[in-house]
Amino acid sequence: MLKVKNLSKVYDGKVAHKALTNIDLTIEEGEFVGIMGPSGSGKSTLLNLVATIDQPTSGSIMVNDKDPLRMKHNELAIFRRRELGFIFQDFNLLPTLTVEENIVLPLTLEGVRVKEMEERVVAVAEKLGITPILKKRIYEISGGQAQRTAIARAIIHRPKMVLADEPTGNLDSKSSRAAMDMMEKINKQDKTTMMMVTHDPVAASYTERVVFIKDGKLFNEIHRGDNRQAF
Ligand code: ADP
Ligand code: ADP
Repeated sequence: MLKVKNLSKVYDGKVAHKALTNIDLTIEEGEFVGIMGPSGSGKSTLLNLVATIDQPTSGSIMVNDKDPLRMKHNELAIFRRRELGFIFQDFNLLPTLTVEENIVLPLTLEGVRVKEMEERVVAVAEKLGITPILKKRIYEISGGQAQRTAIARAIIHRPKMVLADEPTGNLDSKSSRAAMDMMEKINKQDKTTMMMVTHDPVAASYTERVVFIKDGKLFNEIHRGDNRQAF
């Protein structure tokens, strides 16, 4: 699903900054992988490269068995929209739209028919336990509900892989577990591959494997056994 080989990223500036050095990482289809490491270690950089919104300085990267470095700009935009789902720390929802309107946004861009959109929203809302709040506006709902809405939006187009950046970073423990329960369910039921950057031991405990990164290098990896006990 993801094959990263010898990947390096140098940010140009007054002083060039090596953010990632010779990263090798393979994520199999259906895996749920956590990326952990201190602030500034290169986690966001790695996620941005996999998200195809930034380009490496050297090395190769295959996302869903395709090579984003060979794609033209508009091909890349379509690839990202169809095959990837994104979940952010601050939810990235449009506050004045309703929950339902936010969830269908990725489908409207794809020109999916209204009836099909409605059916998909009903199903995804049911799965995420947000059916009762579909007509509410984002500013009327809680942080936990907002993150479940964002998860719904991230999977409504049935992406092969979901990339999450600190999904529990703005949530209390109870909402964090609720959000992670949903991500786990999507991973297990839909076989959606998950790559998640996190500082949160609770979030990490849901993964099958955690890759640790420091100073732009991978330095350790924990498989579960049971990460729920490891963290
Ligand atoms: P993390 O997500 O682990 O906090 P980042 O990937 O954001 O780490 O950053 C890794 C390193 O690269 C840091 O030292 C950061 O300051 C630097 N960095 C990140 N983005 C840029 C950029 N656009 N320009 C220059 N340096 C950057
Ligand atoms: P995170 O909390 O995810 O680690 P950061 O606060 O490190 O994110 O970075 C936020 C954004 O700023 C990222 O998109 C990153 O690429 C960019 N950034 C980080 N460090 C630098 C830097 N030294 N120069 C320019 N941009 C940076």
